[in-house]
Amino acid sequence: MRSISIFGATGSVGESTYDLICRAGGAAAFRTVALTGGRNVARLAEMARVLRADIAVCADETCLPALREALAGSGVEVAAGDAAIADAADRPADWVMSAIVGAAGLVPGLRALRHGRTLALANKESLVTAGPLLMQTARDHGARILPVDSEHSAIFQALAGEDIGAVERIILTASGGALRDWPIEALARATVKEALAHPNWSMGQRITIDSASMFNKALEVIETREFFGVTPEQVEVIIHPESIIHSLVGFQDGAIMAHLGAPDMRHPIGYALNWPDRAPLPVARLDLAQLATLSFRAPDLARYPALRLCREVMAARGLAGAVFNAAKEIALDRFLDGSIGFMDMAGVVEDTLARLLPELGLETDVMTLEDILGADHLARVRAAEAATACAARR
Ligand code: NAD
Ligand code: MG
Repeated sequence: MRSISIFGATGSVGESTYDLICRAGGAAAFRTVALTGGRNVARLAEMARVLRADIAVCADETCLPALREALAGSGVEVAAGDAAIADAADRPADWVMSAIVGAAGLVPGLRALRHGRTLALANKESLVTAGPLLMQTARDHGARILPVDSEHSAIFQALAGEDIGAVERIILTASGGALRDWPIEALARATVKEALAHPNWSMGQRITIDSASMFNKALEVIETREFFGVTPEQVEVIIHPESIIHSLVGFQDGAIMAHLGAPDMRHPIGYALNWPDRAPLPVARLDLAQLATLSFRAPDLARYPALRLCREVMAARGLAGAVFNAAKEIALDRFLDGSIGFMDMAGVVEDTLARLLPELGLETDVMTLEDILGADHLARVRAAEAATACAARR
C-alpha cells in the first residue's frame, strides 16, 4: 500500500489533495503518515480521522490542546510547532505533498527530499528561496520532485519524452488576476477584497493577491528557471485571460506544445499523484466549440513591476531569490493588514532588494540552509522597515 503525507492539508491545495485521496479509496487505498495544518484544528482532526493518519501536526502551538481533544481516542498522534512539522517530514512516506504556503514550506520539503521521497511540490516559494539547494538535495538522495503548480505541471507534461536541450522557450500563461482590466492609475487604491476576486481560479488568499499583482507569475518565472534548468531569457510570460492553456513549450524546430484543461488544481495534483501513469480525474472536460476563442496579450511591465523585478533577481542569482520571496511575503502581510497600498508591495520588495543585494555575497549557487534562512530573516527585517516607511508616507 502506498504511503502519503500532506503538508498544508487544510489549505486550498491540501483540500484538493485530500479530495483526490478520498476518491481513490482513502484509508483503504493509502496509508496516511502525516497531515499538517496551521490553526484549523477541527478540519485537520477530521481529515486525520477519516484517513487514519499516524500523526496530525498543527503549526500553531497554542492549538495543540484543541487538536489533542479533537483526536482523543482516535489513535492519531498529535504534535505542534514548526519543529514538529519538520520532524513529521522524516517519517517514511512514499509520496509527500508540499502545500504549505510561503517559505515555511522549505524545511519540511528539504527533510522529505533527504529521505529520497517523491515530493509533489506546490510550494513554489521553496524553489524561489532555495532552488539550487532543493534540486541538489533531490539529486544527492535520489529523490524526485514533481511539479504541482499548474503551469509547471503543464510544462512537465509537454516535456514528457522530449530532450530539454531541444527546448527554445517556455511560455508561462497568466490570467492577469482580479485587477487585470482596471485602469493602471486606479491600481494604487485597490482593496484586499477587490484583489481577491480572481476571475478563474479558486485558491488560498495569499496566492490570489499575488496573482493580481503578478508576484505569483514572477515567482513562477524563477520556479521555471530553477526546476527545468533553462536560462531566464528562455522564460516568457503571456496574459491569457481564459486560463485554459496552462503553459506552452516551444522547441527548436518551431513547434509549440500547449497543455489545455479546465482551471482545477485537481488536475496537476492528480497528475503528480498518479505519475508516471495517468488515471481518470474528476475534472471538467473542455468543450472547445463552446469556448470558441482563446485570447492572449503581452503583459505591461508598468502595471506589473514584479515581472521586471524577477528578472533582476535571476540576474543576481544566489540568495536574491530568498530575499525576493521573503520581502514579498512581508509586503503582502502589510497589504493584507491595510497598512500599505496594492502598488506599494512592489516598492517594498524593490527597496529591500536594492538594500540587500549589494550587502549579501551573491552570484553563487552554492548555498547552505543557514545562508538561506539568514537571508530570509534579514529580508523580512528590511522589508518591514521599508513597509513602515511607506505606511508613514501615505
Ligand atoms: P492556503 O493558504 O490555502 O493553505 C496553506 C496551508 O499551509 C494551510 O494548511 C495552512 O494552515 C498552512 N500554513 C500556513 N502557514 C503555515 C506555517 N507558517 N507553517 C505551517 N503551515 C502553514 O494556500 P494554498 O493556496 O493551498 O497554497 C499552498 C501552496 O501551493 C503555496 O505555495 C501556493 O503558492 C501553491 N499553489 C497554490 C495553488 C492554488 O490553487 N491554491 C496553485 C498553485 C500553487
Ligand atoms: Mg501557478
